[in-house]
Amino acid sequence: MSPNDLNHLLTRTEPKAAEMVRQLRAKGITHEGLLSLMASIPRHEFVEPAFSHLAYSATPLPIGRSQTISQPLTVARMTQWLLAHARLGRVLEVGTGSGYQTRILAHFFNKVHTIERQQPLYEKAKVRLSSMGINNVEYLFGDGHSGWPQKVEMDAVIITAMASKIPLALTDCLKQGGILIMPIDQPSAHIGCWRKKGDSWQCLGTEAANFVPLLEGIEHA
Ligand code: SAH
Repeated sequence: MSPNDLNHLLTRTEPKAAEMVRQLRAKGITHEGLLSLMASIPRHEFVEPAFSHLAYSATPLPIGRSQTISQPLTVARMTQWLLAHARLGRVLEVGTGSGYQTRILAHFFNKVHTIERQQPLYEKAKVRLSSMGINNVEYLFGDGHSGWPQKVEMDAVIITAMASKIPLALTDCLKQGGILIMPIDQPSAHIGCWRKKGDSWQCLGTEAANFVPLLEGIEHA
């Protein structure tokens, strides 16, 4: 590269990311901070290389180990619920996957705790986010059903894999007034947002969505 070539100094705005943001706005995502963050994150670096040309499209995509990254609208919807209702202190995420949702949580919350049951995904996400300079995330290779091993109270819990039942360890660690976001397949596949209120739960929103299943145990490389 010639020393006079300014190309390496230009900040590239991914045109597909701008189109993704336009579509998110059209579907009711209004949080400007979230939209500009999603416009700036290189989503193509989080998916399997063979699918990177589709990274900004409205579709879930493979991230390896038969797992998928959720489509942008689902990620945006869940995050917008958190931004509207949660105290942005400490959040627990179950299902690190590619680390894309983790990256977004790390921007808004003081501290992110994230758990992944597939060792290769856990390793890759950790390296990927560290190389992006993200340093307020604690990673755990384990089964999210057991919650975080140390007794830490969470302001929010977000589960990015679908189940029929809600693991108790994940609701017990939530503070009173805390927010739970989880995909449930009963009575049909949807994501929901709930506030913990004593022994009951106040539903703050739901939307149809599909996710890979929340599985038991761990898988090594
Ligand atoms: N949030 C992720 C989406 C990942 S898909 C992203 O932005 O890319 C769901 C992830 O949950 C998968 O990586 C899967 O391995 C993981 N998972 C499923 N069951 C789990 C469990 N019991 N504990 C931890 N992770 C789990």
